[in-house]
Amino acid sequence: MRKQIAAANWKMNLTYQQGEALLSDILEERIKLTPDQEVIFAVPFPYLIITNSQVSREKNYFAAAQNCSDKKSGAYTGEISVEMLKSISVKYCVIGHSERREYFSETNQSLEQKVALCIEQEITPIFCCGEPLAIREAGTQNGYVETQLKESLFSLSAAQVSKTVIAYEPIWAIGTGRTATTEQAQEMHAFIRSVLDSKYGKDVSESISILYGGSVKAGNAKELFECADVDGGLVGGASLIAKDFIQIIRALK
Ligand code: PEP
Repeated sequence: MRKQIAAANWKMNLTYQQGEALLSDILEERIKLTPDQEVIFAVPFPYLIITNSQVSREKNYFAAAQNCSDKKSGAYTGEISVEMLKSISVKYCVIGHSERREYFSETNQSLEQKVALCIEQEITPIFCCGEPLAIREAGTQNGYVETQLKESLFSLSAAQVSKTVIAYEPIWAIGTGRTATTEQAQEMHAFIRSVLDSKYGKDVSESISILYGGSVKAGNAKELFECADVDGGLVGGASLIAKDFIQIIRALK
C-alpha cells in the first residue's frame, strides 16, 4: 500500500508557544499509526529542531520545512539551504506551495532545482501542483497540472521520482472553504498518476503518494481520503486546531 499521509501546513501562523501547545495536544492523543501511515508537521523554520525532537518520540511522525532555497549554498542572505535542513535531520520539505508560486514568484524551473536539491540530500519533497480558478473554469486544468509536473519533476530518474510525494492543491480551494468534490479530486489524482505512468511506468506511478489539499476539514477528510487515488491530505487551516487535525489523522486509510 502507498504511504497514507496527513500533513499539517502551519504556514506563517502560531507563535512558538502556541505551536508547542498545539503539537502537544495532538501528540498526547497518542494515535497509533499503521506502518503505511505518516503524520507530518510543516512548521516555520525556527521551530524545526524542537518539532523534530518532539515528534521523533512517536513512530511515523515527522517534521517538514515549508520551503527551501533553490541554491546549494552561498551569498543568499535570509535563505535556508536543503543542506541545512539535512543537517538538522529534516525528512520532508514542501516545495512549490501555490502561495510561494504566487507571492514569491516561484516558477516550475526554480522548483525543479529545489526538488533536485532535496532528492540529492535525501529529503522527500512534497511537491505541490494545482490550477487557479480561471483554469478550472476554462476546463484546462489537466494540461496545466501536467505542465507543472513535466517542468519540475520529469528531469528526475524513475528511482528519484519514486522518492517524491505530490500534493494536488486546486488554488481555488485553498483557504476558501470551497473543497473540491470527491469526484474532482479523484479525477485529478488519477490523471496525475496517468501522467507519471506514461513517463515512468506503472510500478512508479502506483508507488507515489498523492495528497489532496484545499479546505480539508475534520468533516470532509474521510470521504476525500477514501478516494482510490487520494493518499491523504495537505492541510492548512484545520491543522491549526488540535481536535480537527486529530480527526483528520484518524480519517487516513
Ligand atoms: C494549504 O495550506 O496547503 C491548504 C490546503 O490550506 P487550507 O487547508 O486552509 O485550504
